[in-house]
Amino acid sequence: MNDLQLDDFKTDENAAMVLLVDDQAMIGEAVRRGLSSEENIDFHFCADPHQAIAHAVRIKPTVILQDLVMPGLDGLSLVREYRNHPATRDIPIIVLSTKEDPLIKSAAFAAGANDYLVKLPDNIELVARIRYHSRSYMTLLQRDAAYRALRVSQQQLLDTNLVLQRLMNSDGLTGLSNRRHFDEYLELEWRRSLREQTQLSLLMIDVDYFKTYNDTFGHLEGDEALRQVAAAIRDASSRPSDLPARYGGEEFALVLPNTSQGGARLVAEKLRMTVAALKIPHIAPTEGSSLTISIGLSTIIPISGSNCRELISAADKGLYQAKNNGRNQVGIG
Ligand code: GH3
Ligand code: MG
Ligand code: MG
Repeated sequence: MNDLQLDDFKTDENAAMVLLVDDQAMIGEAVRRGLSSEENIDFHFCADPHQAIAHAVRIKPTVILQDLVMPGLDGLSLVREYRNHPATRDIPIIVLSTKEDPLIKSAAFAAGANDYLVKLPDNIELVARIRYHSRSYMTLLQRDAAYRALRVSQQQLLDTNLVLQRLMNSDGLTGLSNRRHFDEYLELEWRRSLREQTQLSLLMIDVDYFKTYNDTFGHLEGDEALRQVAAAIRDASSRPSDLPARYGGEEFALVLPNTSQGGARLVAEKLRMTVAALKIPHIAPTEGSSLTISIGLSTIIPISGSNCRELISAADKGLYQAKNNGRNQVGIG
C-alpha cells in the first residue's frame, strides 16, 4: 500500500472490490449474481484457499469474504495470515459461516475478522455490510496517505528552514558568517564567558592597501582575493566554537571563545603568515609586494554590566596600532 498516493483514493470512495474465498463454486456464483446489479462493486472469486493471499495481493480488495470451512486449509488460519501480511493487514474481512454459533463467531473475531455472516446471507444485508466495510477501509487508506503526505511536507519544510537559516547567516561572497550572525554569536559567547568567567578573544582582520588593489586589478579580482583571504580565515578557526565572519567590506572577524591572549596571538600570527604565503601579487606598499593583512586582537573576561562592544573596540585599537606600525602584523588592543 505504501506506493499509493492520496490522489488514488479521491476517485470514488463508494467503489468496492470484493474478493470471495470459498471452495464451493456454487456459493461464488450466488454471490456474483447478488452483486451483479450493484453499481461500483467489482467481484472476484477464488476457489483455492492456498491462492487466496496471492490473489488478494494482486487485486487489492477493499473487502474479503472468507469461508470458514474449506478442504486443506482452515478459514481461521487464513484470516490470521491476512492479518500478518503487510498488503492485507488492514483489509476488512467478513467471515462466511454455515453456522450461527457464538463460539465460532468469537474465534473468528479473535483471529482478526471484522464481521460474521451466515451463508447465504440476504443480499440487501450482504451489500450493506460490503459497502460499510469498504468505505471505512477507503477512509483508513485516505487518512494514512494524508498522514504520509503531511510527514513528507513537514520534512520538506524543515529542510527548507535549514537552508534558509544557512542563507540568512552566511555572506554571499565568501560563505563565511555574515555580520548579522557575527553580532548574534558574539553576544551569545560574551554572555557565556560572563557566566563561566572564561577568556573570550576576538580578532579583527583588515586587508592592507585593499583600495589600491581594487583600483589596480579591478573589483572582480578584488572579490577573488577576498575569497582567498576568507578561506585562510576559515582554515585558521580550528575549534567548533570558533566563528569566522565577514565583518563588512574587506574586514573580517574571528571569534575565539575560551581562548587566552597567548592562544589568540598564535592563531593570529599563523593566519597572517598564511595570507602572506598565498603570494597574491600587489603593487602596495611597493611594486612586487604580496597582499597582506593586519590583525587587531583583544581578550577579555567579561564582568557584569559590561558589553561585547568593549571587545570589538579593543580589537579595533589593536588593528589601528598594527596599521600604524607598518601593517602585515598583529596589534594587541
Ligand atoms: P588599509 O591598509 O589602511 O586598510 O588600506 P585600505 O585601502 O585597505 O583601506 P580602505 O578601508 O580605505 O579600503 C577598503 C577598500 O576595500 C575599499 C573598497 O575598494 C574595498 N572593498 C570593500 N568591500 C569590497 C568588496 O566586497 N569587494 C571588493 N572587490 N572590494 C571591496
Ligand atoms: Mg578597511
Ligand atoms: Mg584595508
